[in-house]
Amino acid sequence: MKKHQFEVVVVGAGGAGLMAGLYASKSASTAVISKLYPARSHTGAAQGGIGAALGNLEEDHPEWHTYDTVKGADYIGDQDAIEFMCAEAPKIVYELEHMGLPFSRTPEGKIAQRPFGGHMNKNTNMPVRRACYAADRTGHMILQTLYQQSIKNNVTFFDEFQVMDLIRTEEGVAGVVALEIATGEMHVFQAKSIIFATGGWGRVWEITSNAYAYTGDGLAIALRRGIPAQDMEFYQFHPTGIYKMGILITEGVRGEGGVLINDKGERFMAHEGYAPRVKELASRDVVSRAMYLEMKNGRGIGGKKYIYLDVTPETVNKYAAIDGRTRPDGSPYVVTGEEILGKLPDIIDFCETYLGVNPVTDPMPVQPTAHYAMGGIPTNKFGEVVIDKDRTPLPGFFAAGENACVSVHGGNRLGTNSLLDIVVFGKHSGLKAAEHAKNTEYIPLPENPTEFAEAQLESIRNSQGTERIAEISKEMKEVMFDHVGVFRVEEGMRTAVDKIRELKERFKNIKLDDKGTQFNMELLNAWELSNLLDVAEVTAVSALNRKESRGAHARDDYPERDDEKWMKHTLAWQTEYGIKLDYKDVIFTKYKPKKRVY
Ligand SMILES: Cc1cc2nc3c(=O)[nH]c(=O)nc-3n(C[C@H](O)[C@H](O)[C@H](O)COP(=O)(O)OP(=O)(O)OC[C@H]3O[C@@H](n4cnc5c(N)ncnc54)[C@H](O)[C@@H]3O)c2cc1C
Repeated sequence: MKKHQFEVVVVGAGGAGLMAGLYASKSASTAVISKLYPARSHTGAAQGGIGAALGNLEEDHPEWHTYDTVKGADYIGDQDAIEFMCAEAPKIVYELEHMGLPFSRTPEGKIAQRPFGGHMNKNTNMPVRRACYAADRTGHMILQTLYQQSIKNNVTFFDEFQVMDLIRTEEGVAGVVALEIATGEMHVFQAKSIIFATGGWGRVWEITSNAYAYTGDGLAIALRRGIPAQDMEFYQFHPTGIYKMGILITEGVRGEGGVLINDKGERFMAHEGYAPRVKELASRDVVSRAMYLEMKNGRGIGGKKYIYLDVTPETVNKYAAIDGRTRPDGSPYVVTGEEILGKLPDIIDFCETYLGVNPVTDPMPVQPTAHYAMGGIPTNKFGEVVIDKDRTPLPGFFAAGENACVSVHGGNRLGTNSLLDIVVFGKHSGLKAAEHAKNTEYIPLPENPTEFAEAQLESIRNSQGTERIAEISKEMKEVMFDHVGVFRVEEGMRTAVDKIRELKERFKNIKLDDKGTQFNMELLNAWELSNLLDVAEVTAVSALNRKESRGAHARDDYPERDDEKWMKHTLAWQTEYGIKLDYKDVIFTKYKPKKRVY
């Protein structure tokens, strides 16, 4: 076992982890530990943009951004944190620009902006151009820029180290335990402040836009150490994943004028009951549900479970004319194939590679895909993890990015608000963690700090059963996609809870082929599956319990939002007797709940 000591340890090297590490390292000794080489983090896959009310192309205000986010969240987001994030947004985008991030530009050289679902201009009541982007590679550029800055600022990286445990003693949090993937050796990192920034858990579901590494490690570790998970029932399905593969087609395609078409050739989003005003640019939960209903009623293409996303210039120009859409200078919105290619180069490349379809000439077959966790480790707006309904902080423990629940996204996240969330709360958790480290001493490590992590690995490695991880994983993904997906009912969710519990039992009886120590990915994949199973159980139980429809949590048996009974956050603890639930108030500042209309 090797020992290390840093004032601040950050787990995860995506946008949130890098920003946290960068800011913490300005005043405290800081290490960033990542199971992936940093530049491979999922932030690099983000395409569409980062939201900030710069007002470069039309009038816009952080206040409008705040309102849209509150409304998008279906009013269950904490408004103090939302106000803070939206006010910070312009500053942080300029900060990224000054770090060297190559944003796309307007002809005058300002940062270019495009519309995204749910972001509105309050004067015109139409979608506002708020998403700042670098073509369709915004996340990639954020990740590269932050990694360069971290190297420049001498942040210490431990790449390809998988964190397996949070050391929590009676005195508080003392550090983390990590396995060096190349050698199988255990490392203990003693720290005064620990920041979890391990990303999401889309791999719980069969069809997902998420990377293979999105296995909910940080959340599962926290759950095993007695920390609750918040609002797990709110999981976002992005409307446009490539059919059967889940690979994401950015909402930016709809921002550039792409439309959704059913088997009858109709642009169904314009229908009454869906979103006649903003159509494809309604919030994601609304669009995913509309697509699901079209498919359920036999209007998927060829009766199948997909819809066409059409961004061919002919279609875009036809509907832009019907909508009366204009360019910023007031001229009619007319696009050419070349412009589409210039704005969406990677999307076109994906479609040609994976589908053999060229989006400039043909529509893309798409279906909703598991995309983003609104829930996670509960924090306040400083990134401090808060562990009960009174929001009591656990000193020294922080979380930022997709694994955290601040909660700025409430029941449904707006596109471009996650890249914003990771940089804003990454930065502030880094600052707060460094401040905490300056004012406190190291907590002594327990006698055998790696005991819990080793026990988990040994029980997997030594299991002599008959079950295979691929099979357990497949059954988990299917039951979660079928029953804890876009639409939910009591019976289905019960089936899912029972199934996940059965799979957790079967997991105890697995068998691995690789008994080695070096690069034992089979062992790590098995451990990751145990994390996914824990996360799936908490998700299904939290969902089953919430008897209303709100944001991404849509129930056929309780179709209405019920503010009287359910305007509250769910907290879920993992205990030896199963999942324990409790509730926490939502923070309101200015905006009272209203019915959402798009
Ligand atoms: C395809 C796609 C497109 C998207 N497009 C957009 C967009 O246009 N705009 C937007 O706002 N949002 C978008 N999102 C969402 C957004 O990109 C993510 O929510 C965000 O990037 C998450 O950042 P993060 O730093 O929390 O996690 P990540 O970037 O995933 O980083 C997680 C880090 O944790 C590390 N890690 C995980 N587990 C462990 C462990 N056990 N030990 C050590 N390290 C660990 C990983 O190595 C990685 O470095 C998109 C998401 C996807 C999947």
